[in-house]
Amino acid sequence: PAAEAPARPLRVLALANQKGGVGKTTTAINLGTALAAIGEQVLVIDLDPQGNASTGLGIDRRARRVSTYEVMAGEASLAQAVVPTAVPRLSVAPSTMDLLGLELELASLPDRAHRLRNVLKGLRDSKTTREVSYVLIDCPPSLNLLTINALAAADAVLVPLQCEFFALEGLSQLLRTVEQVRGALNPKLTIQGIVLTMFDPRNNLSTQVVADVRGFMGEKVYETMIPRNVRVSEAPSHGKPVLLYDLKCAGSQAYLRLASEVIQREGRVPAAA
Ligand code: ADP
Ligand code: MG
Repeated sequence: PAAEAPARPLRVLALANQKGGVGKTTTAINLGTALAAIGEQVLVIDLDPQGNASTGLGIDRRARRVSTYEVMAGEASLAQAVVPTAVPRLSVAPSTMDLLGLELELASLPDRAHRLRNVLKGLRDSKTTREVSYVLIDCPPSLNLLTINALAAADAVLVPLQCEFFALEGLSQLLRTVEQVRGALNPKLTIQGIVLTMFDPRNNLSTQVVADVRGFMGEKVYETMIPRNVRVSEAPSHGKPVLLYDLKCAGSQAYLRLASEVIQREGRVPAAA
């Protein structure tokens, strides 16, 4: 038999920001779709009890028989939770409200911060024919144990930041948490980048926030900004990524550019689609 091709290195990115409504889930769905469109094999792990990433990817609540709750609780394997989506090469491990109870259940366990890291170990260790090249973890809007698990399991953090007045304030707190996780749980954790979301060029405040964030974080901020775009906000109610809903709109095009920037930062050759 022909030798199996070596697997592409697996990259695990946590989409984190303790603020709600900044574009974490939208970015998980649409960056995931854009990466899949350029040939990556992508798995979105929904770690938010709200389950918006699962819904936005068209996974009906009744179809979530095995969720990330069971996986994190050790009652099911990751493979049992993963379901395909309408996007080729993109799958999702959906979440349910059950995740709300997990923090209490794990509280007394010594490996409580490493549950997700241990779950992903099997994926990482496979040397050939890996089915996944990118894992995107959609975190809840809190620096709780779920987010800590994501940061402990990730290679890098991708921070969606909304172009609004308090953006930088929240960022400092997040950066401190990343620093703490690096010190205590995951020494190799890096910041892949900061993506400015819901940018509105006609809004002076938006433009000022962009200048401030770029001044403070420099090259860590992606060139690509995600514009505020009504098509982006409509797509989830159709259970579709915006790239499937309206490929030509400004939001879809921005997520495609973001995907190439993300890949460039990894210094990897794009996969052949
Ligand atoms: P988070 O996961 O950080 O809580 P979401 O991704 O759910 O944030 O986004 C919050 C809200 O903003 C959602 O209703 C979403 O549809 C909307 N939204 C996100 N990005 C954009 C955008 N680029 N343009 C317009 N609306 C957006
Ligand atoms: Mg969300």
